[in-house]
Amino acid sequence: MDMQRSFLDRLFESGLLIDTGVEGLYGRSGAFEDVIAAFERLIDRYGKADGAEAIRFPPGMNRAFFEASGYMKSFPQLAGTVHSFCGCELDHMSLLKCMEEGGDWTGEQKATNIVLTPAACYPLYPTIAKRGRLGDQGGLYDLQSYCFRHEPSNDPARQQLFRMREYVRMGTAADVTDFRQTWMDRGVKMMAEVGLDVEIDVANDPFFGRAGKMLANNQRDQNLKFELLIPITSTANPTACMSFNYHQDAFGTKWGLALADGAVAHTACVGFGLERIALALFHHHGLDVNEWPAKVREALWG
Ligand code: ATP
Ligand code: ZN
Ligand code: MG
Repeated sequence: MDMQRSFLDRLFESGLLIDTGVEGLYGRSGAFEDVIAAFERLIDRYGKADGAEAIRFPPGMNRAFFEASGYMKSFPQLAGTVHSFCGCELDHMSLLKCMEEGGDWTGEQKATNIVLTPAACYPLYPTIAKRGRLGDQGGLYDLQSYCFRHEPSNDPARQQLFRMREYVRMGTAADVTDFRQTWMDRGVKMMAEVGLDVEIDVANDPFFGRAGKMLANNQRDQNLKFELLIPITSTANPTACMSFNYHQDAFGTKWGLALADGAVAHTACVGFGLERIALALFHHHGLDVNEWPAKVREALWG
């Protein structure tokens, strides 16, 4: 905890992150953003030859898709919804009165059709399903989105609004597990290029509640999720900076994703936590990018 706090304080003092008064909600300096942009170009270089279709969704998604995704079954504690004032002038007057009196004015807000995106790939599956069957090669998509997760923390690597770059593969079981392995190998190589020591380990998602424990154990036993870990605020508990998820045919079945021959598509996604990678770089090489090793600067800025 102390190590987390002190790293966060140093990030604030250097201006790389900007305190908003809310844990996990930060502004970012130009220097911080330069590192993220440079790292994304490195990702582009590794992924370019694969010919992924680039799609950018905003950080909010269709509430109906969110509901159908089952997110509330697995991670209700992390979700964020968008609510708005939908009343008449009279309601407006009582709203202002309630605010003035320091009451809970948010109770009268109504849910909109937008939910904050919990992971960059969530809006993709229903979008691709709507197009009809996939082509002979299946599908490969390049995504990036701000994501929201309600997990306030003083660990600068656990933010509530952060960016996730993802590649998503849809195809046969072999296609998507090969894709996942390719990116695990690339992930290790990329991090070596920028001077970061990594470790890859099997992992699980934080499924909610007692039934969730079983889901988490199952995910682990079947090697469905791996993480690329880099020590940031703790060497004992290194931080997941990339994850590699194999969904089997779960999303294919849920969304009706079909291969060219009509078989249910298998899917896998590979996610880069962009803020986490930037933080790992600042933690390992120092808060001033001009002092970073020449080799690392070369890999990022050429
Ligand atoms: P953790 O185990 O640390 O909570 P996660 O398993 O929830 O991570 P994923 O759901 O696989 O992570 O998300 C994909 C990537 O997004 C992660 O590998 C990580 O780099 C990044 N990420 C996840 N949660 C956060 C967060 N709260 N703040 C910043 N980055 C995050
Ligand atoms: Zn994903
Ligand atoms: Mg998490």
